[in-house]
Parts: sequence; structure tokens; C-alpha cells
Amino acid sequence: MRDGWRPLAALALLAGWLATAGNIPLWSAVWPVQGGLGWRGAAVALVWVLTLALVNLAVLACLAVGPLRRPLGVVLLALAGVASHFMLAYGIVVDASMAANVFQTDLREARDLLTPGLLLAVVLGVVLPGWLWWRLPVRRWSVRRALWVRLGVGAAALALAIVLLWLTFQDLAALMRNDRALRFLINPYNSVYAALRHGVGQRALAAQPPERIGLDVQPLPAAAREDEAPLVVLVVGETARAANWGLNGYARDTTPRLRALIEQGQPIVSFASVTSCGTNTQTSVPCLFAPEGRAQWNPSRAQENLLDLLQRAGLAVTWLDNQSGCKGVCARVPSRQTDHLQVPDLCRGDECHDEILLRELPGALQVLPEPARHVGALAVLHMMGSHGPAYFKRTPAAFKHFRPECTTAQLQACEPTHIVNAYDNTLLYTDHVLAELIGGLAQRSGPTALLYVSDHGESLGEGGLYLHGMPYTVAPREQKEVPMLLWVNGGMQRRLGLDWACLQRRAQEPASHDHVFHTVAGLFGVRSAVVDTEHDLLAACRRAG
Ligand SMILES: [Zn+2]
Repeated sequence: MRDGWRPLAALALLAGWLATAGNIPLWSAVWPVQGGLGWRGAAVALVWVLTLALVNLAVLACLAVGPLRRPLGVVLLALAGVASHFMLAYGIVVDASMAANVFQTDLREARDLLTPGLLLAVVLGVVLPGWLWWRLPVRRWSVRRALWVRLGVGAAALALAIVLLWLTFQDLAALMRNDRALRFLINPYNSVYAALRHGVGQRALAAQPPERIGLDVQPLPAAAREDEAPLVVLVVGETARAANWGLNGYARDTTPRLRALIEQGQPIVSFASVTSCGTNTQTSVPCLFAPEGRAQWNPSRAQENLLDLLQRAGLAVTWLDNQSGCKGVCARVPSRQTDHLQVPDLCRGDECHDEILLRELPGALQVLPEPARHVGALAVLHMMGSHGPAYFKRTPAAFKHFRPECTTAQLQACEPTHIVNAYDNTLLYTDHVLAELIGGLAQRSGPTALLYVSDHGESLGEGGLYLHGMPYTVAPREQKEVPMLLWVNGGMQRRLGLDWACLQRRAQEPASHDHVFHTVAGLFGVRSAVVDTEHDLLAACRRAG
């Protein structure tokens, strides 16, 4: 075939497109820094664009061969186009935990993200260039020639890219120090790297049976009557951030019912300063139930968790999930998903409001083995909470107190105040759900407690960021600071010998997800080498005896 593009010209065209149009978020993050440095800074930025194009050319020269050429090009365009959209729309970056997010997301979560903006990005960034790429007439080379030219060009492009990086290394180092998350913006390598890292972690996880913990645990005694046995409800919140939580001092009262309960004398402490283990659900939820805490926690290590330990101590354990699942935590305990129930007023389509958890809780406890229930029970309620970006979908009509609400998932199309209104309404509803739960549990005479903690926070447009999931070290505080509160009835206080004033003082000091495992184990009096009283928030406030 004599007509058509030379193969190298076609590859250079795609390499150039990916380096420029495929990396708009990267360059729009680099430009304010480099452009501000004057002509030299700007020239350096242009050299980096060229460097990325050369790397692309080297990769394409080696991999876009024979029948792979067309599909590989389209896959790379799709990765760059879709990732660019989410980076520009929500300020996210692509790392391994974001890949986990993508692989573990369910249909409902994905559907919330289908916006006109995404459609536009797919048409302009994937379909149009992909179609042109597919149809581009390219001449054929003999196999021998193709091999030598491709290897030669690949090596030369890579060598030149290395020289350019070396020449601009000072600037690059300064830029990376300034913004460590920039490397997660380099399309499409960020996506490929993230998917590979996630895949390796998952393989490691699947290859090993979970390591058992707390084999030394002492069996707990059974009470004569079930209603004398301890009951703890652990509510795992979703995307609630401390900054907007009324009890944490937010200017708006987003927690009126909990505040009223406190004023009425209900024994509730709200922790003033709590940091999460991760900035997304698939990190925070398993980490919350692990004994080691954030610094030591390793997502690729298969290990039993708090629920296994409590079950081993003889307790009845159940998990109710109104969200996208328990991320493996409830694998060995009874669990049920509540989001597919069809309860009028509470459910619509394949989503239920969080009050469904209140409705299902008594039944879920009833079916647990009777002997275990006499020892005590833990029920975990995993809320839908403030899951974004479609905050407005999370609240029933009666809780739309702050108006007007942003009623689209395309947050940038909304006024910032309307986004906050929709978000604050979700907290108002969470406040209602927790107050109802406490009201119900307060009827119980036996030792009873409720611990509520959110899994991570949320960005609502601060610094151009939305949603959550930034790498922990660079994540803003809005994504890491979460509300946490504990309600402990009189029976449980007496059982623990709890000094309430002491606990109220403790609640003013910093706490974190690292405390949850040990505090819940402590509420039941579980003794094992894996339980560390140093991390039990109540331990220092218990009178000896
Ligand atoms: Zn979450």
C-alpha cells in the first residue's frame, strides 16, 4: 500500500495528541507555577510537553504493532479522556486507591457520575479522535523493517526524553516538591500504573487465607437474660466531614436532634478532633476494623478483623449495609444488604434512605444464634450518609431544610452554596437517623452503647477540589477530619465503671480511626493480646474494679 500515512507519522500524531489534549488537567496544574516564573519557566513547561510526547512515541513505537495498533490507541485515548474529565470536574487524581474505587464501585454509584460533562468528554476526547485513529490509512512495512525502525525510534525518543528531563531536572524537582500529587495527573500512565498496583495488591490478597487474630481471646460470660447482655451498635458513616458537623462547631446547626438529646441529658460525647484512616471507603472501612492503625495498616494483607475477634469471644455479630458493601470486613459474619429492599417511602429504585437500617436492625439481631446473643451483640450499620456527588438523592423531602439544593451530579454547574446546602441536608438527615437510633436503644435496660464515626470527609469545592480520595499525604483536612460520637447508657457506664467527666475531657483531645478497634473491644471487655488498652478511648476513664 503506497498511499496513506507513514507509520511513524501516525504514531507521532497520537503521541502528540495524548501529550497535549490528553493531559489538559496536568498542564493546567503545571502552568500557574511555570508560567508565573517568566519566559524561562514557560519554556521549561513546553519542554516537558515535548518530553511526554517523546515518551508516548517510544511506548507506541514498541507496543502499537500489527493488530494491536488500533485498539491500543483507542484504549489509551479512553483512559486519558475519561480520567481528564474526572480530574477537571472533581479535582481528583488517579492512584491505586482510586483504581480500587473504580473496580469496586457498583452500578448505582457509577450512574450518579454519568453527567452531560462526561458525555462531552467522551465524544471529544475518545470517540472523535478514536474514530480518526481507527480510520487513519497507514502504510505497511515489512516485518524486518518495522522491527528495526520501531526499536530504533523507541530508543532514540526515550534517550532524548531522558536528556530533556536531565536538563530541566532542577525545575522538575522544585515543581514536584510544590505539588506531590502531580505525578498522579500524568495520563494515561497514572491509570495503567494504578490499575497494575491495585491488581498486584488484590492478587496478593486472594492468594492467602486471612491471617487469624486474637486466638488467645478469652470467652465472655453469658447473661441469664438476653436484655441484660451488652449491645453495641457501631454506625459507620459515609462522607460526613467534621467541618460541617453541627456538634463540631459548624456555624449551621446540622445536628439539632443530637444537640437536643445532649441537652436533655442523654449521655453522648462528641469527639472534637478525629482523623480518618483513609480518604476513601475502601481504605477507611477495612482499616477501621483492623487492630494496627493507619501507620501500620497494609491493604494487601489478608487478616481477620474486629468482627472475627468479637465472634471468637462468643458475641453475636451482624452487619447491615445500605451502601456499596462491607469491603470484605463482614466476610465471616452474618450480613445483609438493605439497598435493594422495596419499602415504600424509604426506597426508590435500587436505593433506600438510611432509616431503612433502623427498620431492619431488630430483625437482623433476632436471627443471630441465641446462645451468642446472651453473651452480647455488635451490630454494624453501614450508612449511605452523604455519598456524593448526588448529595440531593440522599435525603427524603422532609430533610431539605437548606435551600436551594444543587440537584445535579455535575457539581461545577452548581453554585457553591447550593452544593453545600445539599450536603448539609445529608448531615441533617444523618443527625435524625442517629437520634432515632439512640431513642430506640435508650429503651433498653441492659448495657448498651452506640458509636458513630464517618469513614472519611469530603471536599466541597475548596481549592477546586470536590469529592474525596486524594492520596492521604496530600489530601486536604476536609477529606480527613470526621465526626465521631459515643452514646453510653447508664447500664454500660456502670458495667465499665466509667467516669463521665473524664470521658468528656478525653473527647476534647485528638482521636482517630486507630481507636475504634480497641474501644469497641473494650466496651465488651474482650481480653486478648491484640487489644491494646492504650488505644481504648474509655480505658483511662474507667474506675479500677
Ligand atoms: Zn466512604
